[in-house]
Amino acid sequence: MAECDWCSLSEEDKRFQLYESGSWSVLLADEQDCIGRCILVLKRHCGSLSELTDDEWAELRDLVRKLEACLKAVFGAALCNWSCLMNSFYKEPEPDPHLHIHVRPRFDKPVLLNGRIYTDGEFGHHYALNKSGAIPAEDREEVFIRLKKWLNG
Ligand SMILES: [Zn+2]
Repeated sequence: MAECDWCSLSEEDKRFQLYESGSWSVLLADEQDCIGRCILVLKRHCGSLSELTDDEWAELRDLVRKLEACLKAVFGAALCNWSCLMNSFYKEPEPDPHLHIHVRPRFDKPVLLNGRIYTDGEFGHHYALNKSGAIPAEDREEVFIRLKKWLNG
């Protein structure tokens, strides 16, 4: 069986770890199509929400509360879009998914980062699937620093 990328996070992934609890890691997503987009990764290999233990669910509940409060406080998010998709694993002949959850903050006001203005052009609707998530490295770093400080403060 192939090694699971989510069980052995790369140094680059760990470099952008914002927070961790006993069962979960919170990483800043590479793609910042929604400013502050994060990924929650379960720290054990498990393929679906229905297989979470009670303790993992309880921690996830606390993390959802913490992250929503953080994204509202730091960037003024109006709401968060949560998704647990796992679709890409099922392109493989023998799917072996590793549970992770995406959170995309949504904004009714512009977000300012290092003098650049980011707007949520689809606010009130599904986020655009083809929108570029590439933002300048210094802006991504700014997002990382602000979120990490709040989450660990
Ligand atoms: Zn895994």
